[in-house]
Amino acid sequence: MAYFQPKIDMRDGSLAGAEALVREIEEDGTLIPPATFIEALENNGRIRELDLYMLEQVLWQLSEWKSQGMPPIRVSVNISRHTLLDPNALASILAIQSYYPDIPTDRISLEITETAGDIEKTTLSSIIDRFREFGIRFELDDFGSHYSNISIFSNINFDTIKLDKSLISELPDNEISQILVKDIVNICRDFGMSCVAEGVENSWQKEALLKAGCIYGQGYYYSRPLSPAKFEEQYLREPQKKHEKGD
Ligand code: C2E
Ligand code: CA
Ligand code: CA
Repeated sequence: MAYFQPKIDMRDGSLAGAEALVREIEEDGTLIPPATFIEALENNGRIRELDLYMLEQVLWQLSEWKSQGMPPIRVSVNISRHTLLDPNALASILAIQSYYPDIPTDRISLEITETAGDIEKTTLSSIIDRFREFGIRFELDDFGSHYSNISIFSNINFDTIKLDKSLISELPDNEISQILVKDIVNICRDFGMSCVAEGVENSWQKEALLKAGCIYGQGYYYSRPLSPAKFEEQYLREPQKKHEKGD
């Protein structure tokens, strides 16, 4: 099922959106994290089914929340590059979205990992542009986790860049990470993209990010991924409540 991890506006602790993360639940209630099965699904070609299932789950949940009068939020869904490269992907995504006409297309964005950049840039760029014609938004996940190629920005239209947790974990002690984060935030601003830091685990990282100009954060400092019921209770029923740990 889909779990939701909040994305927070770190300036005031308010909710800025969420990322949907898959969880398998065993009969005894044990949660199985995706690390154990994503790779197998990518290898056996069934990752596309999972990604589309997650998109459907998220749209269903957003529609449910809307009918209960909850405030609208934006949710990102992880899409494997195998799914993105499937020639039927766009049609399948649009078909799923058409079942939920009450949820505007731009409420969903698709997160693709930086390694998807290994695909020929022009191929990736033309696929993404085709999706964008239908209002689908894209986030570049895990930026900074590998040997990052800044040229990916100039070739491909992303709405948001997600700074990888490996960059954040070195904040605030590592001066190089600080400079890198600051530069990436500035590039994002120049290109009209927003920037989200992943893996924010403590207030020092939060402060260093804000100092570098990065406003949005996601991580255990704020919240672990939550079941829809818990997410609703903690973030949607009391949207005015600020979510800041008191450490
Ligand atoms: P990701 O997209 O980079 O997701 C962020 C991962 O970091 C999640 O792990 C999340 O639980 C974890 N995380 C969040 N905050 C913190 C923090 O403060 N510190 C640390 N150390 N970790 C944090 P999770 O849920 O186990 O997911 C692992 C990966 O599985 C995801 O990485 C994503 O690549 C993949 N994945 C998850 N759901 C889907 C899906 O529906 N489709 C596809 N294709 N991949 C998925
Ligand atoms: Ca992600
Ligand atoms: Ca990530």
